[in-house]
Amino acid sequence: MPIRYKCRHCETEIGQLPLDSIDEHFLQKNDITVDEQELYIEHGASGDYTVQCICEECQSSLQKFPNYYALKKWIQ
Ligand SMILES: [Zn+2]
Repeated sequence: MPIRYKCRHCETEIGQLPLDSIDEHFLQKNDITVDEQELYIEHGASGDYTVQCICEECQSSLQKFPNYYALKKWIQ
């Protein structure tokens, strides 16, 4: 079961990693540049993992229009 990286704003699948690449040092080893607060790992019922992060497109939109995304989050 792979780990899926998904944008939590537009739900675009950013990529996949094999599950054996996840361990307690997962975040450090992968040198993830996203702020820790922007990153969520969901452990699915079937043993799969979904890492919710932000794609480059949303990241740049977020920097340009932070108010728009804050609003959208509340509506959802
Ligand atoms: Zn996105």
